Amino acid sequence: MKAYGSVMQNRIKTQKAWTWVEIDLDRLQYNLEVIRNKIGFDRKIIAVIKADAYGHGAVQIARFLLEQGVEYLAVATLEEGIELRMANINSSILLLNAILPERVDQLLEYELIPTVYTTSFAEKLAAAAYRKGTTVAIHIRIDLASNGLGMDPDQAVSMIDRISCIENLQIEALYTHLVSAYGQNFEQVITDLQTFDEVHQQLATLNKKPQLRPALHVASSPAIISIPNSYYDMVRVGTGLYGLPSFEEQDENLFKPVMSIKSTICDIQSLDRNEMKGYTFSIQNCSNKSIATIPIGYSHAPYLLSMKKIEVLIRGKRVSALGTANMSNLFLDITDMPEAKIGDEVVLLGQQGQEKNLVQHIVQHTDLNIVQCESICFISPSIPRIYV
Ligand SMILES: *Cc1c(COP(=O)(O)O)cnc(C)c1O
Repeated sequence: MKAYGSVMQNRIKTQKAWTWVEIDLDRLQYNLEVIRNKIGFDRKIIAVIKADAYGHGAVQIARFLLEQGVEYLAVATLEEGIELRMANINSSILLLNAILPERVDQLLEYELIPTVYTTSFAEKLAAAAYRKGTTVAIHIRIDLASNGLGMDPDQAVSMIDRISCIENLQIEALYTHLVSAYGQNFEQVITDLQTFDEVHQQLATLNKKPQLRPALHVASSPAIISIPNSYYDMVRVGTGLYGLPSFEEQDENLFKPVMSIKSTICDIQSLDRNEMKGYTFSIQNCSNKSIATIPIGYSHAPYLLSMKKIEVLIRGKRVSALGTANMSNLFLDITDMPEAKIGDEVVLLGQQGQEKNLVQHIVQHTDLNIVQCESICFISPSIPRIYV
């Protein structure tokens, strides 16, 4: 059943579709260069491809970035890591989320690198590695945002000291997530970096064990853009690669957006009645209106199409939607564009002529915060991805 499903899906995906997601790999390469030029060539890049590479397609994005010389990948979950291994991706893969302790054997089987922040998990992991006759590399996470994802910095030194004594574990890196960078709260950033520095400096003075000089990584996209002293040995980058903003007021021209979402006018109706009713709208006196249908709805693009005010691009011009989308269609008011035809390309996200629909503009019509703007890119897997 599963094999049949994927065969069908592949067959459908190679056909031309009414609605598709376009991924521009030249732009991805451009963004990667911008990041490399910022951090320099002696540091490693951990490309964050969790959530199906923020909707861009984890396997394809991973393959492309590894070809471009990216050294390391990170995903959130064990399942995401296994998906990459099944696609023959052999690079180092860090799991950012904790995993269920009973699944440590799978972690070892697929040679994924766990994030560790409790001694009990470290012990379970070590026991599994011992049974397998192997050593497992780990990254230890410090929690600077007090959100529970990581070790409390006050206890970190003694905990890490203890973990470093466990056989079959190798502490490859120590990291933290600089949440304060997303608000560009530089005072908090300085405090956070000091806290992190105290932890690794104290570790370096303990017993002088080589494993207590792990690689350090802190910066994600907003810190890469504006906080050079957060670069350390490696950086973890997601949004920047995809050309998405990670904070308010980010320079729109720094990165190039990689994803476009496009559809096609599949029907045009000239209304000859006095009233048109949708689920979320009702128009009176619409006898001279012209309505185009595009086959994309909130089941395909829940964040993008749950906006109150939707604007798309047709023939290089802005066109407004009538009300909100339904589950699989959106209606557009093309009364002012008599030249529009069935088959015309419609850009929901991306550029057409001189006009642009960027996520940072779209989120202004949603309840999303700019930090969550990448959710616009979470498009149903039933919509084909085309890599150009
Ligand atoms: C998602 C994530 C990142 C990537 O952040 P961006 O802002 O997308 O660059 C980095 N580190 C951790 C721990 C993450 O969860």
